[in-house]
Formats: sequence, C-alpha cells, structure tokens
Amino acid sequence: MKKIIIAGAGHGGLVAAALLAQKGFKVTVYEKKPKGKVGHDFTDVFGGQPLRDLGIELPKDIKYYHNHPMAFYGPSQKTKLENRSSSGGLNLDRMALVAVLIDFAEKNGAKIVYDTEVLSPILDSGRVIGMVVRSGGKIKTVTGDLVVDSLGCDSVLRLGLPASADIEGDFGYAERFYAYRAFYEKVGEDSTEFHENHFYHIGDPGLAWFMDYDGYCDVLVGSFLPLDAERVEEHLASFRVTYPELGEKILRGGQFASIPIRKPIGRFTLNGYAAIGDSAAMTIPLIGSGIDNSMEAGRILADVLIASRGDCTVAGLWRYQALYFKRVGAKMAKTDKLRETFEIFTPDDVDFLLDNGILTSEDISSATGEGGMKMNASTLAGKAYRGKANLPLLGKVAMKTRQGAVMETHARNIPEIYNETAAENWIKKYRSL
Ligand SMILES: Cc1cc2nc3c(=O)[nH]c(=O)nc-3n(C[C@H](O)[C@H](O)[C@H](O)COP(=O)(O)OP(=O)(O)OC[C@H]3O[C@@H](n4cnc5c(N)ncnc54)[C@H](O)[C@@H]3O)c2cc1C
Repeated sequence: MKKIIIAGAGHGGLVAAALLAQKGFKVTVYEKKPKGKVGHDFTDVFGGQPLRDLGIELPKDIKYYHNHPMAFYGPSQKTKLENRSSSGGLNLDRMALVAVLIDFAEKNGAKIVYDTEVLSPILDSGRVIGMVVRSGGKIKTVTGDLVVDSLGCDSVLRLGLPASADIEGDFGYAERFYAYRAFYEKVGEDSTEFHENHFYHIGDPGLAWFMDYDGYCDVLVGSFLPLDAERVEEHLASFRVTYPELGEKILRGGQFASIPIRKPIGRFTLNGYAAIGDSAAMTIPLIGSGIDNSMEAGRILADVLIASRGDCTVAGLWRYQALYFKRVGAKMAKTDKLRETFEIFTPDDVDFLLDNGILTSEDISSATGEGGMKMNASTLAGKAYRGKANLPLLGKVAMKTRQGAVMETHARNIPEIYNETAAENWIKKYRSL
C-alpha cells in the first residue's frame, strides 16, 4: 500500500487525501493548527463546482451570504466600473468549509494529525522521501512514497527544496498579495450595494475592497508591497471617509496572509513530490481566488495516482501537472498577462485604461472568473479609437493581449507523457513567455 503524506490541511490536499484513502492508499495529513481551528476566520466567495463534482453536500447550518454586484475604481477614483452579472458562487465561512473537507477526508479513511508543524523536506538522491516536523515540542521525521505539498503560498517545503529541483522559490514583486482581512462592526446604514474594489487604494500597488453585510463590514487590503499595521490603519481611515459605516471594532479575522496572484509555477512535480493549491500558485492571477482550483487539482492528482496504481516518480506525477495545465492552468496563465499590466503600468496608465473604457468591468470580471481573459486582438481593435490619445499605451495592452493568447496555447500544449528534455523545454519556454 502506497504511503501518502499530505503537508497542510489545504483544500486540494484534503480532496486528494479523501479520494486516495477511499482507494486504499495510506494517507496522513499533517497540519500545524489545532483541531477545529483550521481555515481562515472569515467568509469567501468561490464557484463550488469541484464540491458538487465530488458529491459533497454542505451541511444545512453552514452560513451562506448573498453576493454583491462588483464595482471597480482606478487609482484616481474617477471612473466606477460596474458589473451586475452574478457569479453564482458560494460565499461560505472558510473554517466551516475546511471542516467539511476534513470530515470528507476522515470518512474516507485519511488520518489527520493536528498541532504538527512541517519544517523542511527530506531528500535522498534528488527524490523527496519525507519531511521534518515538530510536534509536542519534539522534532521528528516522517517518510512516505509521496509528499503532497499543500502548505500554501509560503510553503516551507517548496522553499526548502534545493536549486537543483528547479522549482520556483519565493514569489516576486506583483506575484503575491500581502493581504490583511477583517470583519469590522458596522456603525451606520449601507453606503453602497456593491463589492467595492479599489486598484492602488491610497497609492499602494494592489487592490483593496470594502463590502457591506448585515451587521458587519468586510475589508481586504492587498498590496504588492509588504504591509504593516500602520499602513493598514491608513487604508481603513480612508475607507471610513468613503464608507462611514465602517466601525473600529474587529469582529473576525484581523490577520495578515500572503496570496499568490501569478500564473502556476512551471514545475510542481518531482520524484516523490507534488505541490498543490497556493504552494503551486494555482490561484486566479490578480484576484487571488484559489479554492476551486486547489480542489480541482486535488481531484486530478488523486485520479492520476489511482490510474497509475501509485506511480510517485516524476514521470507518473507529470501527468497530474499536464492535466492541470490543460484543464485549468492554461487559462490562468493567459489571465496572468492582465496581471502583468499592473506590473508594468503606472497608476496613470491604469486610470487611462479604465477611464477610456479600454479595460471594462466585463474584461476584469471575465479575466478573473473561471473563463479567463476574453479580450483578444479584435475586441481590442474595436476599442482602439478610444485609445487614440495614448497609442504607446494601447500598444502595450495589445502586446499583453497577444502574449496572453500565445501563453495559453503553449501552456495547453504541455507534453502529456513525461520525457525529461521535452518537459524541460516546455518549462523553460513557459517561464520566459
Ligand atoms: C484574505 C484572503 C482572501 C481570499 N479570498 C479568496 C476568495 O474570495 N476566493 C477564493 O477562492 N480564494 C480566496 N483566497 C485564496 C484562498 O485562501 C487560497 O487560494 C485557498 O485557501 C487555497 O489554498 P490551499 O488549498 O493551497 O491551502 P491553504 O488554504 O493555504 O492551506 C494551507 C494549510 O497548511 C497549513 N500550514 C501552513 N504551513 C504549515 C506548516 N509549516 N506546517 C503544517 N501546516 C502548515 C495551514 O495552517 C493551512 O491549513 C483568499 C486568501 C486570503 C488570504
């Protein structure tokens, strides 16, 4: 019986744990948090299709919240782009969602070990054979046929791999959000019906949002630059002018976290190792939603391992990487080109694009939704007359749009069968496009 170690009770890791345990694999999940405390202390929106595909029923008492129409503001706040089309997503308590996935994994035979911090990977002749953990104040080693890295954006496993593993390490500028999220008490009437998204809020490169709910206000501050409590207070002070109902008292959350907002990493499988979810940057670029993609990846990984009867070599696991790119990752890689515009444009450029209708709310919403970026050269040409006053900028948008299409094609054409040279060539080009 193959022994599978899942590092971190992330969404994809738990889905893989459940499906593999169901088929007789010996699966153990190691999670640093205590039982009952896993998951973020707030609610989030996600599509939910992977849950439905797995036939996972959400308990009746789990909390749902209504979705708001979206509004986007540029750095100058001059233009408000509105999108009223419904995402049809679920907005759920994150701890309750993880509890459902843990229950699913346990019912299928996976073992969850809490209060256990993963410290580093263990390698032998280039193969990942286990990891070092700290549990009850003691340092131990755990070994297995496969280590699934479900530790999130700052995974100590991914970051602890040697350079020879050729896996992306730390995510760079504009490839991650330094995020702060909290629910605050509400001290007045709703001032907006929208989920209000502000690019470059108070000048910080990134995105901050404000949302009114019954009884509380939901605030996120996401920046490409590291955030501290003082800077967050400045964002909040500005929001309190725009949205006077935003109170001072924190009701939930109030922590800092990192979210990858870039294309998936170019290599996430090695001999004895597979990264999943945020550790492999599987989130939707720019926006950073990753719950659905992580769970989808968990199902693909489990299906591949079951079909190969537990082939944990790089050749066997490559099939997981290939299927992920074909089904999900190629669209994300295309959308990443939209994110790159925020990397190369000035706030004035972004204002110009939004104020002149070159980037519309539909472009942003479709790019950040499941369908990926829909803007192509012909839709851009249709908008071109609006951009006459700034042809160089329009040229840059056209370039990113073209690059998005090229990237998607390359990502989708990932070799299905592992061959070292073909894989290396594909990865090299993927990283350079
Ligand atoms: C503020 C914020 C808002 C977000 N909003 C959305 C949204 O609206 N929609 C959406 O789809 N996504 C959203 N995301 C992203 C989403 O949280 C992730 O994409 C999603 O959680 C997928 O992550 P994962 O499955 O890779 O694992 P994670 O959820 O990252 O879980 C990793 C697990 O590993 C554990 N862990 C970490 N390090 C160690 C260690 N050393 N040892 C042991 N255990 C460890 C953690 O405790 C955690 O349980 C948001 C993220 C943040 C921070």
